[in-house]
Amino acid sequence: MRIDVITLFPEMFQGPLTESILQRAQDEGHLELNFHNLREFGTGNYRQVDDSPYGGGAGMVITAEVGVNAIEAVVGSQMESGKWKMENGKLKPHIIYLSPRGERLEQEKVEQLAAKHEWLILLCGHYEGIDQRIIDGGWIDEEISIGDYVLTGGEIPAMVLVDAVARQIPGVLGKDESAEEESFSKALGRKREYPHYTRPEEFRGLKVPDVLLSGNHAEIDKWRIDNTK
Ligand code: SAM
Repeated sequence: MRIDVITLFPEMFQGPLTESILQRAQDEGHLELNFHNLREFGTGNYRQVDDSPYGGGAGMVITAEVGVNAIEAVVGSQMESGKWKMENGKLKPHIIYLSPRGERLEQEKVEQLAAKHEWLILLCGHYEGIDQRIIDGGWIDEEISIGDYVLTGGEIPAMVLVDAVARQIPGVLGKDESAEEESFSKALGRKREYPHYTRPEEFRGLKVPDVLLSGNHAEIDKWRIDNTK
């Protein structure tokens, strides 16, 4: 899967997406991440990306021109590569604006994004957000929120989305890290996973449940089902 992130702060993504499983996913070619600095699409000598809101009020709004120019440049660069084609009259990337106004990101949505799309473009807002015409004009396919609270920018939400989606790409997780039986997975009826224990059998008076030491797999499975919630 290819994911392009359009952001005012591309440096923020170093670290969270360049360690452990996500770095391995990139090294092995399961995931290709590209970052584009929105500032490069700014206008005028100062590369302005925002302006004050019509109707007044605090904060600044990322302009439609800058947002659309950035999206079109990212899409255009790939269309020219010949790798991506039009599909039903639409460009192939699925373009998401991270926004508190969007649909709440949940595991089923994460699975759908990974299954349906080979190319995502994520637009991170900042300040008060973006000019609504970027959305209304059809440059955004959907708005996604990571929860009912407001963060300073779309960068952390984009990282959350990339991490969650990447885990669903076949081959990204090793055998020991399978996503099949985890909290919110279909296999667990979308419930929260059962608790885990590892050695020693007793730690400061706290014992591992007997059933997990019994070797009786039917009983262990039953205990695990009983302990999802
Ligand atoms: N004025 C906006 C509102 O009240 O809904 C909040 C803007 S917020 C300070 C700046 C940017 O952070 C947004 O444009 C969005 O990209 C991102 N953001 C903040 N909270 C978010 C959330 N819960 N989910 C997704 N993106 C979020």
